[in-house]
Amino acid sequence: MHRILIVEDEPEIARALEDDLRLEGYEVETAGDGPSGAARGTEPGLDLILLDVMLPGKDGFEVCREIRKAGVNTPILFLTARTHETEKVMGLDLGANDYITKPFSPRELRARIRARLRDSKPVQPDVLRFDDIEVDEQRAEVRRAGQLIETTPLEFKLLVTFLHNRGRVLSRDKLIDLAWGRDTYVTNRAVDAHIVNLRRKVGSESITSVRGMGYRFDG
Ligand code: CA
Repeated sequence: MHRILIVEDEPEIARALEDDLRLEGYEVETAGDGPSGAARGTEPGLDLILLDVMLPGKDGFEVCREIRKAGVNTPILFLTARTHETEKVMGLDLGANDYITKPFSPRELRARIRARLRDSKPVQPDVLRFDDIEVDEQRAEVRRAGQLIETTPLEFKLLVTFLHNRGRVLSRDKLIDLAWGRDTYVTNRAVDAHIVNLRRKVGSESITSVRGMGYRFDG
């Protein structure tokens, strides 16, 4: 279920939006001023932010700027009563994804929200975990109890392949396809050698040999 934050200081508008979006099946949170909107907006767990421009404490542009500065990429849709093009563009330059001018029709807003949620990528876990090991796919780093473990690019690929196929037996041919790539000539013996090294680094109990079939990762 998608979670939407509404940052809007006019209680009637906030309430109407909240009711409407709940009926659509969204989980809704509200913030009634700029500072609380910025505080909640920079926290994790949101799929979309509806952000009013004229807000007490801090305006919507400032809130948007703070959220983006904190490295948060949650889609932001401005709700603006102003119609000046420059202000709209200003909002977009700040990293907003869309805007809708008040008064807006609920149907149009819902359509915009749906489009935005459809476009945004599903949230991928950045870090895969097992035992006391963390595998950061983006940074290509493996840590054991917080300490960096050196792996070769191939060992890293093998480990990620195992992590994406937990509990499944992978034949050596399948591992070669997934980790080395198709059309690569690698002997089974070479696969075994790399797995010996990987086991030494991440814990031998995680990778099980399945006789006559291949390997299974049980971490
Ligand atoms: Ca307002």
